[in-house]
Amino acid sequence: MPSEFDLIARFFSRPAANAVLGVGDDCALLTPTPGHTLAVSTDMLVAGRHFFPDADPEALGHKALAVNLSDLAAMGATPRWALLALALPAADEAWLAAFSRGLYTLADVHGVALVGGDTTRGPLNISITVLGEVAADKALRRDAAQVGDDIWVSGELGGAALALAHLKGEIDLGIHAEACLQRLHRPTPRLALGRALSGVAHAAIDISDGLLADLAHILERSGVGAEIELSRLPLAPAFAAFPERVVSCALAGGDDYELCFTAPENLRDHIEALGATRVGEITAQSGCRVRDANGQPLTVATAGFDHFG
Ligand code: ADP
Ligand code: MG
Repeated sequence: MPSEFDLIARFFSRPAANAVLGVGDDCALLTPTPGHTLAVSTDMLVAGRHFFPDADPEALGHKALAVNLSDLAAMGATPRWALLALALPAADEAWLAAFSRGLYTLADVHGVALVGGDTTRGPLNISITVLGEVAADKALRRDAAQVGDDIWVSGELGGAALALAHLKGEIDLGIHAEACLQRLHRPTPRLALGRALSGVAHAAIDISDGLLADLAHILERSGVGAEIELSRLPLAPAFAAFPERVVSCALAGGDDYELCFTAPENLRDHIEALGATRVGEITAQSGCRVRDANGQPLTVATAGFDHFG
């Protein structure tokens, strides 16, 4: 049976290029870039809560890091370092090899160095902390939306929630299953877009609980309201077969890890060129109103997901 230290040495001890000192000492030593602010975030994935216990470990390694990098993208930050706290039921080397492969592959794409962590026996639980950098005063915050701003989203919405419905047996996605499952298991953190928006957009958030629930955080923190046009949403292609799921999966469904952000109207052409889709407008009237294709107001329960709700 390999020891805790064998496991760390085998699966989590690659040299870290951009750290003074990485895995192996009591602390990692990191040198931030002068003139930059550190952006730091932690996200935890719990077996049975965020993923099925038999989930593909390589995809889990990818997703555990991706959801953290998505938070950095939403701040306009550039990721640099990560720490991994891992509780494992057993020293399963095949599982660890696949998990670390998934994690390091995504880390390499974005130049992130794994510089430390903790490894313990326990119910499967994956907690990652990421550290990124953003030029001082250029971070994209939730509290900076202004009345009259356009509201934008990146990529496509709803694919991950459709995949979850498919896995629960509520629907059969058929030919669309593969693309939606990819969205659920291997989300793409929108780091290049976040960086391009830093110092350009007003407010931003990443969509982890559904567009309406996450936009509501921007509205609350900024003291404003919003109007969303349903017909403008960039829907996953699978909705062609499941139009009745648009509200539950694209507006109220989570796990897409796209960015939602606001920006002044005079930047429309610039932002459209970045590939985002304009879906609505920030208003002085509080609350969020959704209009359907005929311009009629739509009533949606917008609570999003709350672990203790
Ligand atoms: P300590 O007892 O000082 O907390 P540990 O024995 O827990 O140290 O860890 C030894 C080294 O391995 C530390 O540098 C720690 O950051 C690193 N480490 C432990 N677990 C992981 C992991 N899952 N991923 C990356 N680094 C890890
Ligand atoms: Mg420790």
